[in-house]
Amino acid sequence: MNTVDLIAKKRDGEALSRAEIEHWIAGTIDRTIPEYQTSALLMAIRLCGMTDEETAALTDVMARSGSMFTPDDLGGFTVDKHSTGGVGDTTTLVLIPLLAAAGLTIGKLSGRALGHTGGTIDKLESIPGFRTDLSRQRFLELVRRTHLALADHTEDMVPADRILYELRDVTATVDSLPLIVASIMSKKIAGGAQGIVIDVKTGAGAILPGLEDSRRLATSLVAIGSKLGRKMAALITDMSQPLGRMVGNALEVREAIDTLRGKGPEDLSRLCCELGAELLIFAGGAATRVEAIDRLEQHLRDGSALAKLGELIANQDGNAAVLDDPSLLPRAARRVEARAPHAGAVRSLDALAIGRAANLLGAGRRTKEDSIDPAVGVELVCKVGDRVNRDDPLAILHVNSASPLDAAHRMVESAYAIDPEGGDVVPPALVLERITGDG
Ligand code: URA
Ligand code: CA
Repeated sequence: MNTVDLIAKKRDGEALSRAEIEHWIAGTIDRTIPEYQTSALLMAIRLCGMTDEETAALTDVMARSGSMFTPDDLGGFTVDKHSTGGVGDTTTLVLIPLLAAAGLTIGKLSGRALGHTGGTIDKLESIPGFRTDLSRQRFLELVRRTHLALADHTEDMVPADRILYELRDVTATVDSLPLIVASIMSKKIAGGAQGIVIDVKTGAGAILPGLEDSRRLATSLVAIGSKLGRKMAALITDMSQPLGRMVGNALEVREAIDTLRGKGPEDLSRLCCELGAELLIFAGGAATRVEAIDRLEQHLRDGSALAKLGELIANQDGNAAVLDDPSLLPRAARRVEARAPHAGAVRSLDALAIGRAANLLGAGRRTKEDSIDPAVGVELVCKVGDRVNRDDPLAILHVNSASPLDAAHRMVESAYAIDPEGGDVVPPALVLERITGDG
């Protein structure tokens, strides 16, 4: 097969066959196809798109480019959740013990923070002793025996995505719908879960901020996962303002613990139940969404989901005493308030600006090599719709000595738009749309 012909075919808007995609990915992995040819092909895909058949083939071939987990490895039907990335998105920390309490099995592979969005691995690592670098054997043993484990992606899984993503990053082809879908779904498929729910964020803090683009992404993720034999659902959810009240690693662990005690922010608790309901139904644990949400809310109230988080922490060498004594988590040296410049109602709260401010304080990383400070972040005292008087606290910055406080402080203050007029502001809807495999 001639790689130049393949590039020309895609350049002219034709669809690639599975065999052609296999040739491309194999040559990318073994480096027999040079990066300039892969770059040209990526740009042709960015400009001409891919059919669902092509995207499904690319996803499957990428998933098979390294080691995988099969349902047999995992010991049966398992579920997974993926978020397209948000600010203060504490969902996974709450959702996985919640689902385990409801009797589901979860063997989840997760990522680290990059850009303005956080990563579950970094959040969990703020718990003293907690290990996410599990061997394949240890991970599978935990999933089979305890039905709940969460580990870092290993180097040998989906190597094709790592290579393609690095090239996309430097060839202005990150924002290609089929390439995003294949990148996300290849990792989910390789993870082995049979039921998958995707939280597609929309709004300022999302990868694709517009609702129309978010809808296209959600529809395609569900279509491709379904084609590859997975039970799929996606919710399009608001990321115009951050989720919950905490943005930062240890801060979000605290928020997750509060939520698992039934005392979390309303939006976070509700989103976890809405996402979890899809998976509970897939696993046969409830017949309707109403019944599923009801059961999950009960697990938040009765302490059973919190107990599962304790088991997860202990099984992965962490100090589970943090559940009862959050002061065991890293704490920042200082708390600094951002205050309202005038009275009014919060009209909007820019998720992207808050994410950037938290990063500036040290909660995230600009490059993969940066280290993070688990203690720092932003605590949102006010969210959209709240009324304030002049000088009321809007947010609290949790800062350490190395944090560039002034710039972060200005960024947090300007993230808030406050209507001086007396009218009520209605907070944005949390779940905008639901997309399922059966239409
Ligand atoms: N997340 C991914 O894993 N891949 C993309 O291409 C975009 C978001
Ligand atoms: Ca949060």
